[in-house]
Formats: sequence, structure tokens, C-alpha cells
Amino acid sequence: MKKLLLTALLSTLAAAALAEYPEKAITIVVPFAAGGPTDKVARDLGVVLSQKLGQPVIIENVGGAGGTLGAAKVAKAAPDGYSLLLHHIGMATSPALYRNMPYKTLEDFEYLGMINEVPMTVVGRPTLPANTFAELQKWLEANKGKINLANAGLGAASHLCGLLFQQSLKIDMTTVPYKGTAPAMNDLLGGQVDIMCDQTTNTTGQIEAGKIKAYAVTTPKRLTTPALSKLPTLDESGIKGFNVSIWHALYAPKGTPKAAMDKLNTALRASLKEPDFIKRQEALGAVVITDARTGPAEHKKFVEAEINKWGPAIKAAGQYAD
Ligand code: ASP
Repeated sequence: MKKLLLTALLSTLAAAALAEYPEKAITIVVPFAAGGPTDKVARDLGVVLSQKLGQPVIIENVGGAGGTLGAAKVAKAAPDGYSLLLHHIGMATSPALYRNMPYKTLEDFEYLGMINEVPMTVVGRPTLPANTFAELQKWLEANKGKINLANAGLGAASHLCGLLFQQSLKIDMTTVPYKGTAPAMNDLLGGQVDIMCDQTTNTTGQIEAGKIKAYAVTTPKRLTTPALSKLPTLDESGIKGFNVSIWHALYAPKGTPKAAMDKLNTALRASLKEPDFIKRQEALGAVVITDARTGPAEHKKFVEAEINKWGPAIKAAGQYAD
């Protein structure tokens, strides 16, 4: 009897605590370096989410191993609604790349909802002699065996894009992995690496300022963002069917209470409707998602479809890590 009373009391207390949720700052882990494209989305969203939730939102960068280290940290965190993960397409590509994944993508997380879709751009160091995609292709042919391609590690979006790019051109490049494409961009600007494939959220400003060379976009259609609208698609440049678009989404550790999930999802959906947020994302070439994928069930369904879409292509390319 006493035990029953205690259990009832505890669950009433837990329900009361959740009614107050959130009572303190929420941490969003970004599994890449600060200042990069995933980080930018998180910081921009964090500001709006914080207004909606009435609590600070702290961004913690846990880069390394193509995003799997940061994702693993959240998979193992307390499921109390105060630890979240903001990750990109790597959530769906990593399972095909790592023999020993430190978490189970579909089982270890609650799916909170999707945020945006972002095209990628093929960019080069400022001193690269090529100015157009055709010139880049010639330069790559002429420099086989000497080309350095930067990426954010196996499982990163830059890895996936670079992998497909090398396969399509049938040119092997030396990949140089970083903890995110923010440090990779620094080395591209400094000329230590030759080319990179990165989200427009990271490259638009540099392209606009003329600080890096830009050759093509990875989507089937040209982009409308002014700084990027002159760039050809890879498809029209001869790599038929090339289509890589990166998406970002929010996750919580498995077992996060439904009451917290509901509040987070309501805040997320409201944030995605904020005109200033939409405008800022559009200026960086990103498209904010407003369809059913901003809800947990459709988000999870989409990730499952992406795992099935990319897994076979990655396995066929024979790239693995332990
Ligand atoms: N853009 C990076 C990637 O290649 C990740 C990052 O630094 O945000 O996945």
C-alpha cells in the first residue's frame, strides 16, 4: 500500500515537473565544429526556440567522426528534454559507413521534427586556376593524384557529396577530414586544400565576397539566392542526375517524456513559421520545411527512406570505417 502511494506521489511529482517544462536551459548538441553550416542552423534556430520556450538554448559543438561522436553523446544523455541533437543527412548515411556505430539511428532517439533543406556547392581555393566548372574538370584531370578534397569526416554531408563527385568524374582524390567544414573552409581560404563540397549556409557569404571559387550547385535546379543564381547545376555541367540536398532535423534521447516532446515540437513548428528565421535561411540558400515532416512520425519515416536511399549507393562505393 505504502509502495503504491509512493509510486502515485512520484508520478504526480513527475507530471507536475513536466507541466513546468522547461525550467532551465536546453542544450542542443551540434556534431560538428562551431561556425560551420550545421552550427549556423542550430544557432539561428536556437534564438527563436529560446523565445518560444522561455529558456536559454545553449549550443554545444561535439565534432569528430563525421558527426557520430556528437550523436552518440545525445543518444546516451538523460532523456529529460534538456539534451537535444541537431544533425543533418549524416543521420541517414552513417549507418552504411561505420561497421561499429556507437548508437542505433532508428532506436536510440525520439524524432522531434525536421528543420530545413540546404543545397551544396562545389567550391575551390581562391588560387585555383580554374574559373568555370569545365575548367575545373580539366584541372582535376591534369592533377590526378595531387588533389586534396576537404570534408568533415566519414558520414558528413561533405563526405557524401565528395564521394559521389569523385565517383561521377572517376577521379580519386585525397580526402582531408576536419571536425566540421568551418575549419575546412579556413584551410580552403588559406590554400591548404584544393576543393570542397559544402552547404550553401557556409559558402554563400564567401562566394558573395569573392573569397573562394564556386563551380556548381548539387541540386537538379539552379538556385534563386542572388549570390548563387549564376552557378550551373552539376547535372547541366555533365554529371547527369547528380542530386544532393542536405536536411537538418532535431532529436532527443529515446525515452524523453511525451509532454516535453510535445512542447518542443510545438516550439519547433512555431519557430519554423517565423518570417525572420525564414528570411535569414533563404538568404543562405536554405529552404525551411513547413510540411508534415516537421512532426515526429513523418520525420522518422523520412529518415528511414533516406537510409534506404543512400545505403546501397554508399556500400557500392565501398567506403567503410570501424
Ligand atoms: N557541412 C559539414 C558536413 O560536411 C558539417 C558541418 O561542419 O556543419 O557535413
